[in-house]
Amino acid sequence: MIESQGLSWRSIHRGGSALGPVMSYNSSPLWRRKGRGEERVHSNLFNQPFRIQTSLVTLLCGALAACVGVSPGQESAVVTRAQLQMGTLVKITAVARSESVAQAAATAGFAEIRRLEELLSTWIPTSELSRVNASAGVMPVHVSPETLTVVQRAFQIAEMTDGGFNIAIGPAVDAWRVTEGQRIPTEPELDVLRPLVDLQAVHADVRARTIYLGKAGMRIDVGGIGKGYAADQAVEALRRAGAVAGVVALSGDIKTFGRLPDGKMFPVGIQHPRKDGSVLAWIDLQDEAISTAGDYERFFEREGVRYHHILDPRTLHPARSCQAVTVIAHEGIWADGLDTGIFVMGVESGMRLVEALPDVEAIIVDHEGHVHVSSGLRDRIRQP
Ligand code: ADP
Ligand code: MG
Repeated sequence: MIESQGLSWRSIHRGGSALGPVMSYNSSPLWRRKGRGEERVHSNLFNQPFRIQTSLVTLLCGALAACVGVSPGQESAVVTRAQLQMGTLVKITAVARSESVAQAAATAGFAEIRRLEELLSTWIPTSELSRVNASAGVMPVHVSPETLTVVQRAFQIAEMTDGGFNIAIGPAVDAWRVTEGQRIPTEPELDVLRPLVDLQAVHADVRARTIYLGKAGMRIDVGGIGKGYAADQAVEALRRAGAVAGVVALSGDIKTFGRLPDGKMFPVGIQHPRKDGSVLAWIDLQDEAISTAGDYERFFEREGVRYHHILDPRTLHPARSCQAVTVIAHEGIWADGLDTGIFVMGVESGMRLVEALPDVEAIIVDHEGHVHVSSGLRDRIRQP
């Protein structure tokens, strides 16, 4: 049964947030940025050196350009712009009644992502989460409702995924530094970190609006969920600025709303985890988010073994049961959190979870490369 703090799964999934005032997880570095501005080399939000993860987004935008091109003379304007934010390539497409409104909407979307980065990035020493991490074992830190929302959702997803998703993973992520260090931590090193990867010691007090990490050395890392949330929030900013449709894509975390001016939905190509630049499947989205967690973008190999950035909180080693997990949900925060958690869970329990959730679908490529598609998606995807 999936239940959290007295709320049924369904109400949680639909955005219910009537959580108790004090929320801790009791059943099972964040965004760091080295510089500001588009011209600088960023580190990935989550301790990884910057690397543009283009695959899925490139495919999306290529498809968009084609769709827009077939309907010239329409009254709507479509604007697509890209920037480096949150350590990744962010592309925003805004559809509006005029170009100036579409441009303003895209600008508002980027500004919203920048604002969230200032709260959540552990590359920024003054961000809320950096301060939470710096105060681990010392004192609670006052945070914004946005930061609390991300942490609350992370608790819920941890529960749903039997602890596969765990934002207390920060110390282990730092120990691996998969693309920076390419070093395999020793077991004694990981043993020292294990007590720190303790979600029960993450205390979010909704009433006081504080987060407290109960043990010195703990660090929360919202790299597995934050970009999906940023996509959701940016879409709201686009809407407020007058866009009638659009897409916000932070690398592989994508949120769409409305339809293209020619009435078509937004086509998205899902990257094949072992064939660079190849599409595994196409899907059309409307008012939905899609997110992929894979072992093929940030990894290194040693003696034929692939070491990637999604860690199993139990072993503190890279999770081994999948190559890629793509989740579709109404909100990016769910799609992003669930893709990482299901990646750790593996195909059997992961697919069972997806089938039990209303409005959540998934494509899971297991460790042998077999593709598993959830029941609600089978009629929707197209093979390339
Ligand atoms: P990305 O789109 O950046 O690849 P993912 O959604 O695949 O992100 O999440 C991977 C990131 O999540 C890692 O870089 C790390 O910061 C964090 N992470 C790794 N393992 C876990 C885990 N078991 N639970 C929660 N977050 C994790
Ligand atoms: Mg994720």
